[in-house]
Amino acid sequence: MTWTRRKFGMLAGAAGIAALGVRAAKSAAKARVVVVGGGIGGATVAKYLAASAASIDVTLVEPKPCYTTCFFSNYYLAGMRSFESLTHDYQRLARRYGIKVVHESATAIDPAAKTVMLGGGAKLEYDRCVVAPGISFEFGSFEGYDQAAMQIMPAAWNGGPQTKLLRKQLESMEDGGLFVIGAPPDPFRCPPGPYERACLVAYYFKQFKPRAKILILDAKDTFFEQDLFQDAWNRHYPGMIEWLPGQFTGGIKSVDVKTRTIRTKGETFRASVANIIPPQMAGEFAQKAGLTDQSGWCPVDPVSFESTLQPGIHVVGDAISGGDMPKSAFATNSQAKVCAFAIAAALTGSAPGEPHLYNTCFTILSPDDAVTDSISFKAVAGAIRIKDIFVSQVGESDELRREVAQAASGWYAAFTHDVFG
Ligand SMILES: Cc1cc2nc3c(=O)[nH]c(=O)nc-3n(C[C@H](O)[C@H](O)[C@H](O)COP(=O)(O)OP(=O)(O)OC[C@H]3O[C@@H](n4cnc5c(N)ncnc54)[C@H](O)[C@@H]3O)c2cc1C
Repeated sequence: MTWTRRKFGMLAGAAGIAALGVRAAKSAAKARVVVVGGGIGGATVAKYLAASAASIDVTLVEPKPCYTTCFFSNYYLAGMRSFESLTHDYQRLARRYGIKVVHESATAIDPAAKTVMLGGGAKLEYDRCVVAPGISFEFGSFEGYDQAAMQIMPAAWNGGPQTKLLRKQLESMEDGGLFVIGAPPDPFRCPPGPYERACLVAYYFKQFKPRAKILILDAKDTFFEQDLFQDAWNRHYPGMIEWLPGQFTGGIKSVDVKTRTIRTKGETFRASVANIIPPQMAGEFAQKAGLTDQSGWCPVDPVSFESTLQPGIHVVGDAISGGDMPKSAFATNSQAKVCAFAIAAALTGSAPGEPHLYNTCFTILSPDDAVTDSISFKAVAGAIRIKDIFVSQVGESDELRREVAQAASGWYAAFTHDVFG
């Protein structure tokens, strides 16, 4: 199963690039595509478009010199992976695919003039623009939590310094301390993420701080793969992890960073380390560019990922209203390929193909015990809906779970190669 998936990803990538090249070769003029955001969505669109470099000129705008994945950051928190192994630069995208990588922030889009404004004052002209800014946080959803509070109670929900900060706090936490995870309401980036984090931090505690406890204060009453997680918590970490659903606590009402306390409707918890993951919405740039609706996310056409609010601008990744599609790196990469095909077709006057959208997630319960889900999607009446779904089951053999854990590492290597060249 593992081999097939990885192989499929690579074959799909190769076939995709070849198909783009054929279509793009039909057009003589160099079309310009500006991609804002060099995360998973933006880097994938840029690479797959630039692979047809003969006719499409691609500029990728991203302020950071390197991208650190949030996927597999829970491994880093558990001491199972180095920070460097999660970090990727843009050199191969520039060298191999001729993408112009501009390390600046985009500040605005002028859809009438078809230009993207950069922080340094320059303007980039485009025929098509792609926006992939990821998520932003809804500060103000509970009292006391803002950008400054996040430096003391990190969310660690974007890869990078926040993940390092949380790891440092876990390292210096006393044995017998309480680690509180505030899990957000739907929809949010990586539905299994907070619960996988509980598993891997518990794995770390088991070795180095065996008297420590983990409390998950959830805004929700249920969560994705709940049966798999609760089974794993009982088997691997008995008595270490407590989960309190929103219906019991009413969710987090306020936090006080000075005393590291977290207040719900009826109770106050004192954390040794608090990992508060706030409610989320589309990245700030998408909001500024008029790409979000009242939901806080970006509505798109699921065949082309063109914004339904701003023609000529496409949005991919966690920022979109994805229907049944989860906010994951795999899903983002799949959307980005569909989007690249659609843009290449539009710029060369050919008909767009039928979109094929997938998601596969590997979730690590302990180093030798991982589960997976694999979902295909179809576009139905302007929305993305589940076509087929496979999810691991409680009670699977140790051998199968070990194989899935090994497959996860293979997936990371193949996937990041697919995105960053
Ligand atoms: C703990 C955790 C575990 C996860 N595990 C998995 C997993 O196992 N599998 C999986 O598939 N997914 C996983 N994910 C989810 C995955 O990381 C995200 O879904 C994915 O990163 C989304 O890609 P994106 O391109 O939409 O956003 P991002 O990857 O966040 O990229 C957005 C980029 O846009 C840039 N940007 C923002 N504003 C601007 C601007 N104004 N100008 C220029 N650039 C800008 C940012 O700097 C950033 O580089 C996990 C997430 C977390 C938090």
